[in-house]
Amino acid sequence: MNKYANKRINTLEAYQPNEDIYKVKLDANESCYPIDKKIREEISKAILENSLNVYPDPMAKKVCEKYGSVMNIESQKIVAGNGSDELISVITSAFLEIEDTLLCFSPDFSMYKFYGEIKGCKVKEIKKGEDMILTSQMIIEGAKESDAKVIMFSNPCNPTGIGLKRSEVIEVLECVNSLVIVDEAYMDFWSESVLDLVDKYENLIVLKTASKALSMAGIRLGFAIANKELIDIIKKVKSPYNVSVLTQIAGEVAFSYPNEIRKSVIDIIENRKILYNHLKEIKEKTKYDLRLFKSGTNFLFIKCDIYDQIDTKLKEADIIIRNFNNGYLRISIGTEKQVLEVAQILKNLLVV
Ligand SMILES: *Cc1c(COP(=O)(O)O)cnc(C)c1O
Repeated sequence: MNKYANKRINTLEAYQPNEDIYKVKLDANESCYPIDKKIREEISKAILENSLNVYPDPMAKKVCEKYGSVMNIESQKIVAGNGSDELISVITSAFLEIEDTLLCFSPDFSMYKFYGEIKGCKVKEIKKGEDMILTSQMIIEGAKESDAKVIMFSNPCNPTGIGLKRSEVIEVLECVNSLVIVDEAYMDFWSESVLDLVDKYENLIVLKTASKALSMAGIRLGFAIANKELIDIIKKVKSPYNVSVLTQIAGEVAFSYPNEIRKSVIDIIENRKILYNHLKEIKEKTKYDLRLFKSGTNFLFIKCDIYDQIDTKLKEADIIIRNFNNGYLRISIGTEKQVLEVAQILKNLLVV
């Protein structure tokens, strides 16, 4: 407790990313594949040619245009952020007042609640059941009951890996009066995007990131996509030079190679199948309670009664995963070699 801190900070649960170094990093859903060396060389060259003494383009126009042409969206409906994390914060500032309610779900990406609490609006968090399934009905009823001004959820969900069908998201968009933020950070691994509907629904904002499927977590680049009116509000609230010259250059170059930067998606899905099948086999043989969840992302969500032992054994092998300290674990999908190593360690521990 500090007397100078915003009172709300004192009760806030901080996001705690792992800071230790492990050889195999399967804790943060980054891509296990680097972007192509040729693309990185082109980025380096472009950075060398920039004198760096001038502020970046405040609206990151070229990156938005490039991204828009890849995603088939007009650039005036796109705003770039220093990661989509920053945009979540900007969106809470832009659309929520103290008396308003932000509706979110648990478990889900914790930053929605986090930023809502910092802003000091009301946060209504609905707990998912044991099956971890979020339905359109839960969202619609939750919005009515809490009179939500804004709804945020990830689709497919981090950390459960489960996605809502496009038709269900549409049902939500049509049945609520709230602004609906659909965070599609993992949509490249699933295929129920509503990105093409930002014109049809005036209450829809879609979030995208370069950090997961596109292998660029290090550059910090995310996007919000919506109708121009909503995008202009976000632009008005964001800090003027929120996306650095380095990031803009990296994005511009990378989005010139849309197929190259997405080509690892197929391998990641394949590796996910390998790990899932091994876990299924372990589940059939183990005496421990092991639950698996189907995933439409680049990670697997599992529940186990000896979750701490799993975490410890993997750490001993220099592998870090995400331990939620409540029975649930989230394992980002690594290379084939890495997922096989994880599977072997789990087999040794769980099957005697
Ligand atoms: C990783 C993640 C983000 C953050 O992406 P950045 O663009 O790296 O800030 C946003 N939403 C969800 C659901 C995520 O899992």
